[in-house]
Amino acid sequence: MSKGPSIKALGIESSCDDTSVAIVRYKPGETPKVLALVVQNQSTLHEQYGGIVPEIAARAHSDRLDSCTLEVLKKAQLTLTDLDCIAVTAGPGLIGGVISGVSFAKGLAAGSNLPLIGVNHLAAHALTARMTHKVAFPYLCLLVSGGHCQFLTVKAPDKFIRLGGTIDDAPGEAFDKTARQLGLAQPGGPSIEKMAVSGNSTKYAFPRPLKNQQGCNLSFSGLKTSLLRAKEKIIAKEGSISSTRMADLCASFQRAASESLSLKSQVALDTFAKQLGQKPTLFTLSGGVAANQVIRKDVQKICDEENIPFYAPPLEYCTDNGAMIAWAGIEKYRLNQFDGFDLQARSRWPLDTTSSPILGGGKRGAKS
Ligand code: AMP
Ligand code: MG
Repeated sequence: MSKGPSIKALGIESSCDDTSVAIVRYKPGETPKVLALVVQNQSTLHEQYGGIVPEIAARAHSDRLDSCTLEVLKKAQLTLTDLDCIAVTAGPGLIGGVISGVSFAKGLAAGSNLPLIGVNHLAAHALTARMTHKVAFPYLCLLVSGGHCQFLTVKAPDKFIRLGGTIDDAPGEAFDKTARQLGLAQPGGPSIEKMAVSGNSTKYAFPRPLKNQQGCNLSFSGLKTSLLRAKEKIIAKEGSISSTRMADLCASFQRAASESLSLKSQVALDTFAKQLGQKPTLFTLSGGVAANQVIRKDVQKICDEENIPFYAPPLEYCTDNGAMIAWAGIEKYRLNQFDGFDLQARSRWPLDTTSSPILGGGKRGAKS
């Protein structure tokens, strides 16, 4: 089906609040190349509501997908006829947005006579390391974002084992909600990280939930509540929160979140080795929270101690983006996994259907 030994895929992402389209080229023996990437974040559209409004998100995706696609083709100096397939996020995610992307991709595939490939958004995050860094299977991925938190054994482009994940909030969600509590700007992760730089991370003893429980499940909602209580106590005693207190709260919160993630990363590495009888070729972090330098350092330390290479993709490919969708499409293309025009948009789409569902599973993560 390919127009040569190389595969050029257009990837479309619209599962949350980023409208993104990219073109990625695979050539045997070469590192894959992102030929062009366009990302239009919608945060200004949702700002006044204090969270993502699904209907507004879906409409904005619909409005912007065609211009993003034209822009990406122009940037790559290609036309649709130069491409080999159209890959699109078919779930999990906010259903309106996913429908916008899938409908658009179907139209594009029909109009250009290109094969259509529905991509699982979580698989795309987990496979990103193979696009930017030569990584062989099997490896371990910790996906930490605003909607998800999972440890995944990646055995093949279509074989994943979920070792554990959050039983309630996703870490990015906890950062965002906590920032809101503290009156800091959204998205909360970068605001808290910035504020934490001058803070004392041992000032407040926030919990490391599930620390003493077996397995690598995580929980972040208690941490969020502990911070709220600490904030209330300070206000009751001191009348307001000084910038020093604010920095200490942020630093202590970030330390607790990071320690929870690194502690369970150790458990996930042990579980991987036990299940597969070998160490992972690599431990990769993915998702927006992977931008956090403290979290990166803590998880890297665990990997260094275990002599396992650690890798976090460049940030533009960690957060939601069309390039990871195009790449996951290329992985499926190489396995001859194409979809028909009956491709369904799915709000839930578990990557690993054999592992039992995680209780709660995150506000959006439950759907994964
Ligand atoms: P995503 O869901 O992958 O699009 O990533 C967005 C999430 O990542 C949001 O919840 C952000 O607050 C979070 N995030 C981004 N940068 C950071 C950071 N430096 N530290 C912690 N969380 C972050
Ligand atoms: Mg994502």
